[in-house]
Amino acid sequence: MDYIKILFSVPSGDTRDILLAHLSQTEMTGIEETEENVTVYYDGTNFPGPEIENLAAGFALKYEQELIKETNWNESWESNFQPVLIDHFCSIRAHFHPPFQNVDHNIVITPKMSFGTGHHATTEMMIRFMREINFSGKKVLDFGTGTGVLAILAEKLDAMEIVAVDHDEWSVNNALENIMENGCSRIAVYNGSLEMIKERNFDLVLANINRHVLLHYMSSISAILAPGGNLLISGILATEDVTIVLEQAEGHGMVFKSKKIKNNWAAMLFQK
Ligand code: SAH
Repeated sequence: MDYIKILFSVPSGDTRDILLAHLSQTEMTGIEETEENVTVYYDGTNFPGPEIENLAAGFALKYEQELIKETNWNESWESNFQPVLIDHFCSIRAHFHPPFQNVDHNIVITPKMSFGTGHHATTEMMIRFMREINFSGKKVLDFGTGTGVLAILAEKLDAMEIVAVDHDEWSVNNALENIMENGCSRIAVYNGSLEMIKERNFDLVLANINRHVLLHYMSSISAILAPGGNLLISGILATEDVTIVLEQAEGHGMVFKSKKIKNNWAAMLFQK
């Protein structure tokens, strides 16, 4: 299979938020954001060319289109994937990197098109927060699992039962591969969204997604948390999103505990 990569030059802000809302209606296989750009990937057989053109024209945005041959995909990510080291707590590397010494948790990820390598500030902050939380014996939900990186770390931190969910089929398959590669056995992965999750009484919900999804699901998240359980979120912007997400979480019975900020991204910890 070949992929189409579309790079929009659109800095963080309202225009980007609205563009993302439209793009989320298309069948993307992956998305990456930097301060200046949004990059989306499509399966080459399913590429919504006219929609992309209309969106770009509607927002007066420039975009670049690139065809990525499946055969080149591995080469391209292998040469670009630098290992990530988060203090001596956790490393995230590819199978072809030598393991780090003196690191508590070594995670091996083959991300392909999915999000979650630790390079992004939001994943890094989630991991830094996870370091401060006692996972032993806990029941954890990883909402928007991507590569599965947070679910894998939760198991390494001794969580008892982990449920991971992602609405992107590509990510689900990728998470399953990464879970196997890391020898994890306590993670169940579902393709879908929160509606798929019939279990209740989670001790911790991890959700590194985005403002729209977090706001939409805040009441369901609160409902599946055990009393006293924690919600750890990221994918929200420090300037625009924190206040509105905070209000919504508090409105659903959660108490704000603490916050981290990096590159204008925020991560927040709540308790029900
Ligand atoms: N947990 C990883 C990946 C975060 S990226 C990390 O922290 O790095 C966010 C993921 O959420 C993506 O894989 C995306 O497919 C998924 N996602 C976005 N909206 C969703 C929704 N409504 N339901 C389920 N998954 C969703």
